Amino acid sequence: MTTSRHKIIVAIDGYSSSGKSTMAKKLASDLGYRYIDSGAMYRAVTLYAMEHGMISDSGVVNEKALSEALKNIRIDFAVTPQGQHTLLNGKDVEHLIRSLQVSNHVSPVAAIHSVRKALTAQQQRFGAEKGIVMDGRDIGTTVFPQAEMKVFVTASPEKRAHRRYIELQQNGTPSSYEDVLANVIERDHIDETRTESPLRKADDAVVLDNSDMSLPQQEKWLMDLFNRIEKDINECNG
Ligand code: C5P
Repeated sequence: MTTSRHKIIVAIDGYSSSGKSTMAKKLASDLGYRYIDSGAMYRAVTLYAMEHGMISDSGVVNEKALSEALKNIRIDFAVTPQGQHTLLNGKDVEHLIRSLQVSNHVSPVAAIHSVRKALTAQQQRFGAEKGIVMDGRDIGTTVFPQAEMKVFVTASPEKRAHRRYIELQQNGTPSSYEDVLANVIERDHIDETRTESPLRKADDAVVLDNSDMSLPQQEKWLMDLFNRIEKDINECNG
């Protein structure tokens, strides 16, 4: 653990399955910071909508019903020996929210104004005390535009689909590589072209293309960047 004098906010944004969460979790654990997976929050709302019949077979979301139901949706995170688990109204849904079915519906749900408004407010509350690493799509642009450290992670769609394909197999919910690749491309498109908080690099974010980097290399890159930023902040503050 480092001896930081000033706790900061670390925003890690980027494309789906770019490995953001893995890097973000490791950095948070090394720093003794809190880690928040904002994508898990959008996934949990999507699961709720699916379980309550608010998404039609053709994928159309009943925005009105979901907007009204938002007050009944509580999302928390529990830290267990197996890692961080997402709770939806007190129920552990960590496994369920990672399915390809949820992945297929999450981007349209995440494009809904009321959903973004509610989740952004909760994310901002999580970061009120700083000392947080949050990953997502709009953390450095909308949720914490004032974050001291911003990273934008990218890799080729094929690399990202391959990583996700392996992850789904390991989770016991295998899907074909072609289906996973199609989902990655589709989500990127919806996330980049939506009107509200589209996926884009913040002007002051540092880009990391990890297509050809091992996990330890990525972790080192991230920690080196954190150390540089912390040094600058400490020098500025005397
Ligand atoms: O990060 P993950 O792939 O789990 O996120 C699932 C989906 O949630 C993304 O494809 C995106 O549509 C949405 N999302 C978002 N804003 C965030 C985090 C995730 O719109 N900050």
